[in-house]
Amino acid sequence: MDGESTGAAATPQASGDRSEPPSGDTSVTKRRGAADNGARESEREDTQAGGDTSRTLSLGAGVRAVYPSPSTSNVSAVMRGNRKTGSSPELAVRRAVHRRGLRYRVNPLIRAGGTAVRPDLVFSRARVAVFVDGCFWHGCPLHGTQPRRNSSYWGPKIARNQERDSHRTTLLTTDGWIVIRAWEHEPAEVVASRIEEALRGR
Ligand SMILES: [Zn+2]
Repeated sequence: MDGESTGAAATPQASGDRSEPPSGDTSVTKRRGAADNGARESEREDTQAGGDTSRTLSLGAGVRAVYPSPSTSNVSAVMRGNRKTGSSPELAVRRAVHRRGLRYRVNPLIRAGGTAVRPDLVFSRARVAVFVDGCFWHGCPLHGTQPRRNSSYWGPKIARNQERDSHRTTLLTTDGWIVIRAWEHEPAEVVASRIEEALRGR
């Protein structure tokens, strides 16, 4: 499936994704393990380092989409935005939250009901976990319309993601966490306000 990942699963994301405001807060870390996130793994853009022109996106089940070579940095930015891990909606939320003086951990592995879960942002002490879900992959009601073409493939995959999302939400909630699920289309400030509100109640 991800046969062409060239063992780069542990390769850190491109440095361009790390434009967080400096905070001196060591709890803001970027860890991305190989476990847990089947959905994310398959969403990951396969090309890591080398400027390979034949960029492809593994869609799982051996299905691959070819990215055209980006001709401008703007196009590259759009492509980066399409990647879930450290995606720009998630980064925007992180920055908005950070600006409010709130500190969080990024992608830590936490245990809930004996299952490992890796939310996008975690406020450990307050036990608030945040997921910023991609509209397409997680089936947003506004933008997650399933494509007619290949719907036999996309449909089940998105359904599986949604199932996993709700299962993880249930696990965490049962374990005493407040779970905030945001769509990537939601303005970062709106999401940040939801987070701030949840934290205030703790
Ligand atoms: Zn959406």
